[in-house]
Amino acid sequence: MTTYDKLRPWAAIEACQCERLTEILLVDLLTDNPIHCASCRREVDPERLQLTDNEVESIVRWHSAASALYRLWLDSGEYEDYAKQKLLDPGGQINRQARELAIAMSIRLPTRFWYFHDADDADPTHCPVCGEQLDTTVDWGIGICRPCHVRI
Ligand SMILES: [Zn+2]
Ligand SMILES: [Zn+2]
Repeated sequence: MTTYDKLRPWAAIEACQCERLTEILLVDLLTDNPIHCASCRREVDPERLQLTDNEVESIVRWHSAASALYRLWLDSGEYEDYAKQKLLDPGGQINRQARELAIAMSIRLPTRFWYFHDADDADPTHCPVCGEQLDTTVDWGIGICRPCHVRI
């Protein structure tokens, strides 16, 4: 992320135009919609997935808390360390909820959630949830743990 990006999150919003969705990624990119296509990384409208009202509500709830933590971390102020610790905690609320959402959504389409990683730290080699080695044969990012629905 460049400094400019912090002032223009809206410019990055484009809807996924892929003919077929194969994989969904739940990730907070500082926009209103955390549902993204895992191949083009653009936003996927919840209607396209035929999500239920309950599912949308759960996504909104998770996203609001996850985004709040992420913003506290980005702010690099008094709450940075607290936020990072929570973002990295596999048993913490936002990671638990994201995983539950990904599992539920995977009934329709394989869904993974983006796991927080501070680019200043060494690249993770193992899944933060189960501790198994990450599958690094991904076209972008560091790796994937399919059983845990984690992408990083
Ligand atoms: Zn796409
Ligand atoms: Zn795992």
